[in-house]
Parts: sequence; C-alpha cells; structure tokens
Amino acid sequence: MSTIQLVNPADETPLEEVALTSAPETDAAIARAAAAHASWRRMAPADRARLLRRFADAVDADVEHLASLEVRNSGHTLTNARWEAGHVRDVLEYYAAAPERLFGRQIPVAGGVDVTFQEPLGVVGVIVPWNFPMPIAVWGFAPALAAGNCVVLKPAEITPLTAMRLASLAREAGLPEDVFQVLPGKGSVVGQRFVEHPLVRKVSFTGSTEVGKQVMAGCAAQVKRVTLELGGKSANIVFADADLEKAAAAAPGGVFDNAGQDCCARSRILVERSAFDRFMELLEPAVTGFRVGDPASADTEMGPLISGEHRAKVASYVPSDAPVAFRGSAPEGPGFWFPPTVVTPSRADDPLLREEVFGPVVAVVPFDDEDDAVRIANDSEYGLSGSIWTRDVGRAFRVSRGVEAGNLSVNSHSSVRYATPFGGFKQSGLGRELGPDALASFTETKNVFLATEER
Ligand code: NAP
Repeated sequence: MSTIQLVNPADETPLEEVALTSAPETDAAIARAAAAHASWRRMAPADRARLLRRFADAVDADVEHLASLEVRNSGHTLTNARWEAGHVRDVLEYYAAAPERLFGRQIPVAGGVDVTFQEPLGVVGVIVPWNFPMPIAVWGFAPALAAGNCVVLKPAEITPLTAMRLASLAREAGLPEDVFQVLPGKGSVVGQRFVEHPLVRKVSFTGSTEVGKQVMAGCAAQVKRVTLELGGKSANIVFADADLEKAAAAAPGGVFDNAGQDCCARSRILVERSAFDRFMELLEPAVTGFRVGDPASADTEMGPLISGEHRAKVASYVPSDAPVAFRGSAPEGPGFWFPPTVVTPSRADDPLLREEVFGPVVAVVPFDDEDDAVRIANDSEYGLSGSIWTRDVGRAFRVSRGVEAGNLSVNSHSSVRYATPFGGFKQSGLGRELGPDALASFTETKNVFLATEER
C-alpha cells in the first residue's frame, strides 16, 4: 500500500501519513457509489434535505477542529481557515433547501400535458486542488448531493485532511454509506479513473488550466459532463477618481490572501497613469505592513506557500534582475516562506503579466484611459475575476461590462458568495458553481409528454 507523508508548510514538521487510494480501490468505490444511488435518489426530498442540514450542523460543531487541520496541513491563516470551515456549513445549508425546490416546468402543448423533471446524473466525481481544500470540495459535493447524486471526491494529494474529516462528519450526520466518499490519492490514478470510469457521469474539476484541458479531453471520449474551474490572472483596475487610500490599503489583501495561492488573486494592478505615483506611495506601507508569519496566530494575514517545490516555482518568476519595486517581510528558517513582492514590468509579454504565478507576487502597470484599462485587463488568456475602483457609477458598470471575467467587484475584492454564481470566461473555466443555478449542472432535464386526448 502506498502512502504519503504530509508536512506542515509553516515549519516543515511531519504530520500524518495517509494511505493513497489505488485504481482498483477507486473502481470499487465508484461501484459502491453507483449502487447507493438507487436509494439516495428515491429518498423523499424532505428527508434528503434534513440529512444535509444535519451534515451542516455537524460541520458547524466541528469548525474549530476543521480549521486547525487546515492550518497545519495547508498553512492557511487561522482566520481564513475558520471562514472556510464556516463556508462549508453555509453552502450545505444553502443547498439543503434545494431537494424540495428542484422544480421542473409545465409547458403548454396540444393534446396533453408536458412536464420536465430535473433528474440526477448518478455518480459525480469531484477533483479538488490544494489551495482551498474545504471551499472547493463543498462547491462540488453540496449541490451534487442535493440534486440526488452520489459523490466520489478526490482531494489534492498533499492536502487531504479536511476532506477526510468532512466524510466522517457526513456519516456521523446520518448520510447513508457510500453516498459521499472521499478518496485521497494521486490525480494520475484516482482523478484519472473518475475521467475514464463509465459509471462516473460527471467530473467537476478545479485546478490548473493545463490539467483541466486533459480532463476535458478525457471526458470527451464518453461525452461525460464536465465543469472546469481553472487558473486566473485577474486585474485590479484603479482609476484616478477612486478613493486611492482605500484602494491601496485593500490591494495587498486582494492578491496576497492565502499567500497568493488563489485563483481569484488580483495579480495585476492597473493604475491610471495620473494617479500611478501616488498609488505606489500608498501601496508600499500597505505591503510592508502586511503581517506574514505563524498561520496559527489569529492576527496573521499571510502564511507560507504550500511546499518547497511550489516556492521554487514562485521564486523563478522573481530572478535577481526582476523589476522589483518593493517587498514585504517573511520569517526566516524552516517553512516555505516567500515575502509579498511588488514588481513593475515594462513589457506586455513579461511572464509576470501573463502567467499565473500563484504566489505573493503582484505586477503594477499604468494605463491611459478607460478603453486602455479594459484592453489591458482583457489581454490575457484567463478571465476569472477582477476589481474596479472608481467613484463614477456609470464607469463602474461600463468597465464591468467590458472586462471579460466571470466575477467582478467594484470598490472591493470580494469574489465568493455562496448565493451567487462563480466561474470563469475563456481559459479560466467552463460552467458555473454556487448560486441558484449550480444544480442545473448536476442534473439532466427530462421532458415527459402525457396524452390527454380520448383514444
Ligand atoms: P492541478 O495540478 O491541476 O491539480 C488539481 C487536482 O487535479 C489535484 O487533485 C490533482 O491531483 C488532480 N490531477 C492531477 N492530474 C490529474 C489527471 N491527469 N486527471 C485527473 N486529475 C488530476 O492544480 P493545483 O496545482 O492543485 O491547483 C492550483 C490551480 O488550481 C491553479 O491554477 C488555480 O488557479 C486553480 N484553481 C482554480 C479555481 C477556480 O475556481 N477557478 C479555484 C482554485 C484553484 P494531485 O494532488 O495528485 O496533483
């Protein structure tokens, strides 16, 4: 049996050793999920809803424990990890309302009655990356379960602890065996079986654009349903008429949260040329004052990167001759630390402006006017998120409509609310999660016509 030795990214101390699921074990779990589906989909909607509410209650009672697991396994700050565990509860509660509201339609037709049903797909495979183990897991499993599917979920190989705990809480809450199974293991083994196994009817994948393309190509062989949440290179657009103090104070949080390992990180800051120097003056103290350190401490704003390998990748974007404007601080010694770093690349094709660094590195560039801001923002293969800072309401909406991205915020960096849709344009993804419509991607619409004419 192969295992993985987990490591605390803040101090490199060993944590648990976790058994990795093999391909035959994955197939067996998928078969059990398919068998469990028959009764789960038939369960009375109110009973399915009640079980999801009990699951939410079990998570609520376990928030501190889940948060401490995430601090140790992923280096998330305690504040973030508590929010993430609470978010699992909230998403479960939100979709617990769904089983009793999964309405079809009655469509006027000649000669009879026509109705539609939203049928569950069967077994849904959820593949989760390491950067937000809890939120991304629940975005998949909560609506999938609510719609009457069974779920097999693969956490990232290196961050499985909270997902494993959530599976135990589901059982404690009374979810029937095999309805929700967590299979720690490798993407190339467990994830690959989700793509290939014919009983998995949909894959909900979150991760890199590179692997997402492979997953989509693999799913095409069976016309398997797929949702993709992929990378980003989001723009934070600051106009000269904005509250510059507020925009500069908020900018570090918009990109350095979770040490920049956030698909929605505003890793490009576009500043109107006339306000550029003033903005940089205001940004410097905000960056140097960003509190980087022990993630278990309640006032820490940024923890370590996830691994030594990932830190080396992030560092490769900032060689000694990189156009660094200023940096914040980071602890010395063990742990995968990298300081918040602000760069000012001058060429539009600089990788710092084009590639997802996925670390605490932000590129700041000037723009000339509204059209120029939208042009630069859209000069990316990605289109996930972004922010617009201005006091001009008309401009806020014009620019929001112009930027090709799925999730925008004005005078804020908020991206995720469980009640609103989340997902990407262009190579940032396919489909939407969360919000009232997520259930549609975990169901098939079935049309039934019943003749009422006398024979
Ligand atoms: P990744 O390398 O693509 O891995 C994501 C998941 O896919 C992991 O569980 C991985 O397993 C699995 N996997 C790897 N190869 C696979 C294969 N051939 N078939 C099926 N599954 C496979 O991404 P990551 O480095 O963990 O995560 C960072 C990326 O996720 C970033 O690009 C980020 O922008 C993106 N992301 C997007 C969103 C969004 O909502 N748009 C949210 C968060 C993150 P292993 O653990 O074994 O590698």
